[in-house]
Amino acid sequence: GMNLKGLLKRNWLLIATVISVLVGISLGVVVREYASLSHLDKQYFGFPGEILMRMLKLVILPLIISSMITGVAALDSEVSGKIGLRAVIYYFSTTIIAVILGIILVMTIKPGVSQTADHIDRAGTTPNVTTVDTLLDLYKTKRKELEPPKVSVNTTTIPPLTTTIMSVVENITKDYQIVGTYSDGINVLGLIVFCVAFGLVIGKMGEKGRILLEFFDALNEATMKLVQIIMCYMPVGILFLIAAKIIEVEDWEIFKKMGLYMVTVLSGLAIHATICLPLIFFVIVRKNPYTFALGMAQALVTALMISSSSATLPITFRCAEENNRIDKRITRFVLPVGATINMDGTALYEAVAAIFIAQLNDFTLDVGQIVTISITATVASIGAAGVPNAGLVTMVIVLTAVGLPASDVTLIVAVDWLLDRFRTMINVLGDAYGAGIVQKLSKRELERMDLTSDVDVANP
Ligand code: ASP
Repeated sequence: GMNLKGLLKRNWLLIATVISVLVGISLGVVVREYASLSHLDKQYFGFPGEILMRMLKLVILPLIISSMITGVAALDSEVSGKIGLRAVIYYFSTTIIAVILGIILVMTIKPGVSQTADHIDRAGTTPNVTTVDTLLDLYKTKRKELEPPKVSVNTTTIPPLTTTIMSVVENITKDYQIVGTYSDGINVLGLIVFCVAFGLVIGKMGEKGRILLEFFDALNEATMKLVQIIMCYMPVGILFLIAAKIIEVEDWEIFKKMGLYMVTVLSGLAIHATICLPLIFFVIVRKNPYTFALGMAQALVTALMISSSSATLPITFRCAEENNRIDKRITRFVLPVGATINMDGTALYEAVAAIFIAQLNDFTLDVGQIVTISITATVASIGAAGVPNAGLVTMVIVLTAVGLPASDVTLIVAVDWLLDRFRTMINVLGDAYGAGIVQKLSKRELERMDLTSDVDVANP
């Protein structure tokens, strides 16, 4: 039932988080104005925020493992297949809707038509971020995070499938090293594939499988306890994270020059979040979508502050399960997948940015090219990892598909840190609504399972 004390405590944390955002922004502005910090000072300043990021990243590994395995094992394979299919249909259709919305807006507002690429380029040149080299570096690091590492054996004599399996295996074993490998990023997709397989096997193993299921269930509970502790530190971490960011940004002028472009992206995200997704949710679930969104508030603020759906995942779980009462058999199964492949905000952003760049270049797009942009923006959003600026990196796919220069990503780099925050927030919101919708659509299967199964670890 409803726990009033818990409810108050959660709201207290949310209020504290919002206050720390405001204090952090003010602190950043003041320090920027009145103190001249050295590079090292800035790093010290950002350190409390860095600690928050690292703590969150540290728990997502045990969290994804324990939730995916128990999520899959608690369902029988037929039910998990159905639930998975529903989730994928939801992910795909909402992503497409976001892309279409973005295209309509950017073609109506035309943020790039009155300006030229040259104008923005010269205006926005901050040498340390807008050079092609920096971007390529960024691209390479991000690719490293997305791709399984190369296997060190002689790959030429081994068939590709084997190499793939080997690199997945190598990656997973690598990821089990809790210390030291996080800078390389986690191959979340590989991990999910492994956990689904493992969960399916456990589900079919009878009594012994049940022991494992209970083990991973306990692991999940312990991890969530850890998340609760991290959440207490969150206001402090967020305060310094945002303050450090404000101190660090070098060029505020660019925001004026790119104003219309940012308005286009942000209004697209706002419409998607307040009209499209709530409407779909309401039609299917028949509950107040805004109350649901409010229940996710802590996760949404977190996403806005840390620009990473993966690192927000622990908080997304808590909000979805505790505030919105979504069945753990659903959240555990669909939230990790959603955080990895379902990115409505990123898809919308990629479509808008690509067409904006075309407008800057006086490049007229025909219908075929616009269709190409919508397809590649969808693919690029699925391919983007849930880490900061990943969407900017996969932009290259969209630009090259229609013959725009990939290096033109540099035109939008300077404002990406801000847009990234907002699109990440919408990505997380989309995952949450998805969990609510999939739960509603799977009601019958879940109820049938409640009747037939005596194991109820997932839902005590
Ligand atoms: N930062 C986003 C996320 O984690 C991905 C992106 O760059 O669009 O969801």
